[in-house]
Amino acid sequence: MKLTDLSEIKSLMDRHSVTFKKKYGQNFLISPTIPERIADAAVSGMPEGARGILEIGPGIGTLTQPLAERADKVVALEIDESLIPILGETLANFNNVKIINQDVMKTDLAELRETEFGSEFKLSVAANLPYYITTPILMKLIESGISFESITVMVQKEVASRLCAAPGTPDYGAITAVLAYYGRCERLFTVSSGCFVPAPKVDSAVVRLNLYKTPEISVADSNELFRVIRGAFAQRRKTLSNSLLTEYSALGRDIVNDAIRSSGYEPSVRGEALSCADFARIADYFTAIKAEKSENK
Ligand code: SAM
Repeated sequence: MKLTDLSEIKSLMDRHSVTFKKKYGQNFLISPTIPERIADAAVSGMPEGARGILEIGPGIGTLTQPLAERADKVVALEIDESLIPILGETLANFNNVKIINQDVMKTDLAELRETEFGSEFKLSVAANLPYYITTPILMKLIESGISFESITVMVQKEVASRLCAAPGTPDYGAITAVLAYYGRCERLFTVSSGCFVPAPKVDSAVVRLNLYKTPEISVADSNELFRVIRGAFAQRRKTLSNSLLTEYSALGRDIVNDAIRSSGYEPSVRGEALSCADFARIADYFTAIKAEKSENK
């Protein structure tokens, strides 16, 4: 069955009395080449025999099929119960795929990694992500503590620009700086809205996050780093001094300004000018001051 053929998709869905659900961000791929290219990117660099893939939102299995052809094991989490019988049919020829009818946001990913992939497999993520929940899913993946080889995802074009932006550019934001702590974001290719059914309003792009085995940015307390980044971007139009003062009001302006200077910038700078490594220096300054204060108590 050709899952990228519109009339075949329609007859498959009609036969199972299933309709597209907007609330789950269901825009299925109908391009014959894009799923293959995403699957190639997802397994690239993984050792043969140990290629484990976690797919989020398999839909009717359009991306799952090329993933199963290339990987040794694929586990796919699909929230929509009505798609499960369809997936049973479209993936019937593969014995290396497991479909789990579950919301990724309610899944214990570390446990899933352990039970489904053990120490036998390396693990990467592949997904055509539902647009309504792109950032929360990405954050959940990178905060899971799992050492994924890479995360290859299709997202809205604007989101791709944000994820891969350089400091000082208009697209650069909190998510860009946080992702930079975990890995290097690579924009692979653009996908026009005509490659989906139903067609979304905007084009998409595929990005691959190459995760560091050990963090390239050294910071004493990564939670402090994420707090600094959150604070820096909470009020984008303000100076970094004013933004951070809102988050760190207990420390006072002098300490906040000294922390900013320790990163090599003036307090009047705007948050978007700083790289993740710059934010790490500010976070370390705060960590040291807090340690000093608690010692003097
Ligand atoms: N992979 C298919 C493709 O490329 O044609 C479908 C992609 S579609 C953009 C997103 C898929 O994610 C849908 O199948 C949707 O039901 C599923 N989904 C949405 N929210 C989810 C969640 N929280 N957990 C798991 N799957 C979800």
